[in-house]
Amino acid sequence: MEKDLILETKQLTKSFLGFIAVNNVDLHVQRGNIHALIGPNGAGKTTCFNLLTKFLKPTSGKIYFNGENITQTKPAQIARKGIIRSFQISAVFPELTVLENVRIGFQRTHTNTYNFLRSDSSLNRLNNRCRELLAEVDLLEFENHITADLPYGRKRALEIATTLAMEPELMLLDEPTQGMGLEDVERTTQLIKKVSTGRTILMVEHNMNVISSIADCITVLARGAVLAEGTYAEVSTNPAVMEAYMGT
Ligand code: ADP
Repeated sequence: MEKDLILETKQLTKSFLGFIAVNNVDLHVQRGNIHALIGPNGAGKTTCFNLLTKFLKPTSGKIYFNGENITQTKPAQIARKGIIRSFQISAVFPELTVLENVRIGFQRTHTNTYNFLRSDSSLNRLNNRCRELLAEVDLLEFENHITADLPYGRKRALEIATTLAMEPELMLLDEPTQGMGLEDVERTTQLIKKVSTGRTILMVEHNMNVISSIADCITVLARGAVLAEGTYAEVSTNPAVMEAYMGT
């Protein structure tokens, strides 16, 4: 394994009752990169994410994280190792404040938080750490707002903050700009770029403007298999990719 690969899959395969949704996929995610997983609907992107977080068990193939074979590792251990998938908005508690939601994200991976919280000074430290994360995603001014009252784009930013609270080494972002207007797309693109510093990001994304402006590397899937892997310039001029997208 090359020394700067944080995540690698070898012939990763998932079939559902004989239907092959992910077919011998070799992914190569370099440490520190923003890596995009793209492909037409039904290409197998979500199934890949589910395999990487162990929500699904592979039918065959291997997954390596930092060179370690994690194919048999349980979901909770995967998170503790530093692979964290962004929560969908539905997993952010709408009736809690923005700060409280980040605190919950923090508590998900820090099992000693109960002890940590036993003194007021510790709670202050925890809140201050949460505020740093909110500042990172430009949400500090909303810290005491009820989450349900946030505009959609800000809720997605909160999702990223709760993911950051779990201290990811590898962040998996699921269509981070989906359903957003232009302004929010631009803000989210810059945010992803910003939070990628010192972290690795693997994201499923459909917006080609977002991908071309921030993705260091792209894996294109179609019908479960890898069509191409490379820079935007490389994959966008690949005839097999053009055919899969345009049918040309
Ligand atoms: P994408 O995220 O790229 O749109 P998916 O990973 O959701 O694609 O799906 C890939 C293929 O696998 C699709 O044809 C889908 O219908 C099929 N699939 C996904 N999950 C299941 C499942 N649990 N059972 C049967 N087929 C599934």
